[in-house]
Amino acid sequence: LEELHTQLLGREIVYYEEISSTNEEAKQLAREGCQEGLVVIADQQLLGKGRLGRNWSSPAGTGIWMSLVLRPPILPLQASTLTLVAGLSLCEAIEAVTGLEARIKWPNDIVVNGKKVCGILTEMSAELEGIKYVILGIGINVNTPHFPEDLPYASSLYLEGKQQYIRKDILKEFLMRFEKDYFTYLEVPTFQNFIQRYEAKCITLNKKVKILASSQEYVAYAKAITEEGMLKVVTEQGEEKIILAGEVSVRGL
Ligand code: ADP
Repeated sequence: LEELHTQLLGREIVYYEEISSTNEEAKQLAREGCQEGLVVIADQQLLGKGRLGRNWSSPAGTGIWMSLVLRPPILPLQASTLTLVAGLSLCEAIEAVTGLEARIKWPNDIVVNGKKVCGILTEMSAELEGIKYVILGIGINVNTPHFPEDLPYASSLYLEGKQQYIRKDILKEFLMRFEKDYFTYLEVPTFQNFIQRYEAKCITLNKKVKILASSQEYVAYAKAITEEGMLKVVTEQGEEKIILAGEVSVRGL
């Protein structure tokens, strides 16, 4: 990438025309000892992955299907806050390049006009002593012209902005912004320094939401984001609950 002004992220980029899953490839390279900051990117993913075993539609030439290898010296428990930081950098990068109003659905879906244009899937390998690597998988629907009927809440920057965007511009903007935020995060690895910026972009707050956990489902009012990047809600019975990303899906009502 020309004019990518980063020290670490994207200094090495591995590109595939077609791949099964960029996260799987990045994991393999991470296990083989690749450098932190390596980016795996593909024009098309045949088996793109979402959270909780879901799939991620990644047709050829339409989006940014990428995975970033990180080796942060943090505790495994802190990895979810790192994902939130990446979502925030990504949201702001999309706004900067496209001028569209990008918003975050907690924990880390990026939406434009209420429709999902990006997803993030974090996977990691950790031992008691700490994290060996974190793979940050990012899918951005950039110029996708249409979506199948089974994805009614999906959209692309092209569909919302009514113009095509250059994928490299978005990728560069994201890598530069996220590198800055990543370095800040590593100084004090809590979400505290990002809460204000995140809350400004988060559409989940001050709303009734449906919490879908594995064993239960309930409606609650989303109040705030905690220093750990968790969602604070109040149930209809007035009970305060703290929700951990990864545990649940949150739906608007
Ligand atoms: P969730 O939003 O359900 O927590 P993910 O962020 O991992 O999960 O995204 C996976 C889900 O997103 C899939 O189950 C599917 O409904 C939807 N999806 C799949 N591909 C796309 C895409 N390219 N754009 C937007 N949504 C998608």
